[in-house]
Amino acid sequence: MNHDVIVLGAGLAGLAAARDLAAGGADVLVVEARDRVGGRVEQTELPDGRLVQLGGEVVGRAHTAYLDLAAELGLTLVPSYVAEPGALTRATPEGVSAGDPPHWFGPADDACHQKATAAFRTLAQTVDPADPWSHPDATALDRSSVGDWLRAQGATPAVVRLWEIGQLALADGSYERTSLLAALRKHAAVPGPGAYDYEAWEGLRVAEGSATVALRMAAALGGRIRTGAPVRAVTVRRPGHCSVRLAGGETLTAGAVVSALPVGPLRDVAVTGVSDERLASLHRQRQALAAKFVAAYDRPFWRELGRSGLSESEGILGSTWPQSHGILSALVPPERLGVLLGTPAPLRTRELLADIARLYGDEAHRPLATYIRMWGTDPWTQGYVTQWTPGDVMAVGPRHGTHEPPFYVCGSDQWVAGYMEGAVRTGRDAAREALRRG
Ligand SMILES: Cc1cc2nc3c(=O)[nH]c(=O)nc-3n(C[C@H](O)[C@H](O)[C@H](O)COP(=O)(O)OP(=O)(O)OC[C@H]3O[C@@H](n4cnc5c(N)ncnc54)[C@H](O)[C@@H]3O)c2cc1C
Repeated sequence: MNHDVIVLGAGLAGLAAARDLAAGGADVLVVEARDRVGGRVEQTELPDGRLVQLGGEVVGRAHTAYLDLAAELGLTLVPSYVAEPGALTRATPEGVSAGDPPHWFGPADDACHQKATAAFRTLAQTVDPADPWSHPDATALDRSSVGDWLRAQGATPAVVRLWEIGQLALADGSYERTSLLAALRKHAAVPGPGAYDYEAWEGLRVAEGSATVALRMAAALGGRIRTGAPVRAVTVRRPGHCSVRLAGGETLTAGAVVSALPVGPLRDVAVTGVSDERLASLHRQRQALAAKFVAAYDRPFWRELGRSGLSESEGILGSTWPQSHGILSALVPPERLGVLLGTPAPLRTRELLADIARLYGDEAHRPLATYIRMWGTDPWTQGYVTQWTPGDVMAVGPRHGTHEPPFYVCGSDQWVAGYMEGAVRTGRDAAREALRRG
């Protein structure tokens, strides 16, 4: 059977694209490699009924595409962990401290940090997030790492360390290997008072569960989704004539294809009939590899220490935060994922709980349940969020986030920095473009 559009991947991007295509009257089929929908949003349920998010969780007030979609789906946005009372905890090998300043700061470091933050924000105002390539100094800004730029601004080692621990808390990859232009672009897309504004990026969550956004879309799409169907090849013969070959050897045909695959798995799909320049741009993108750890407790015991549950750490874990009552989320950043992979599997949970115990005390060793989700080595994700190392923004180029009809591209990697907003925004954009071109 020939379809109007085949969408590759049933993550937030693919589902959002398919939903709009179906609403626009297109005959759409979604093909998904896994036996479930949602991709990097996934949830499970504790025996007591609490939902546990194993992937993407929180959004910010500037994430308008996601917020609009959640409203259309009848879902409720509530304040996230950012509204939790109590202090942020920071842990390094030489100490643990609550609140500001961090325990490694000396007398001059805070002023130096404020100065660097102000300079970063001012520079970010010169970058157009939709077109960073048009910046007059784009090449130089892209070639510089954030770490090198900080030192050039006169930042002290203590300040560079604060920025780095914050970046690894997001599991985004070291600032020593992050393009300054990409970091400025991310800030320009969602400006805030700091270099990364937790409230603007992470202040909200869907009360019914983050993965429920995907499940609701999938329920409405019903039989238009085929799970357990990994795509191996896509051929664009001419406008209106595309084919998609599945792992089992079956070939499907359609007038157009929307790829909503993460950039890693997309590299494993043989795509022909699309320009070399587009494929080179897509294949040049990369992801930060991370893992997520979740420990569910009967109560948020960290509150008794006056802590919010948010932490930045130099352990194997880069961060913790409360995802809901008594449930702590944590990320293992790319720089430490190798340590986790090298740790014998039976020891991993114990060692990650020891990291949490260092932050909040011995009660951390007694969770009701724990989960380790190795997103970085999962074949259908091969990452976590988009990573831009120095030189990547210019190498990927202005084709980023654009289409080559009848081959349309969406997914969180096609926005400034990944994230659920990027998935929904680019998914809906791809559907709009495909419908516009009939
Ligand atoms: C641990 C973790 C925490 C995160 N936290 C947040 C957060 O708090 N806030 C936020 O905004 N973002 C967060 N993110 C990022 C966010 O979850 C993702 O950017 C977003 O969900 C990606 O959606 P997507 O549809 O672009 O890609 P995906 O969700 O990865 O969907 C792609 C789909 O394609 C499928 N697929 C892959 N290869 C093939 C193939 N060959 N054939 C067919 N199907 C294939 C996959 O199985 C998957 O279902 C987090 C991500 C992770 C992993």
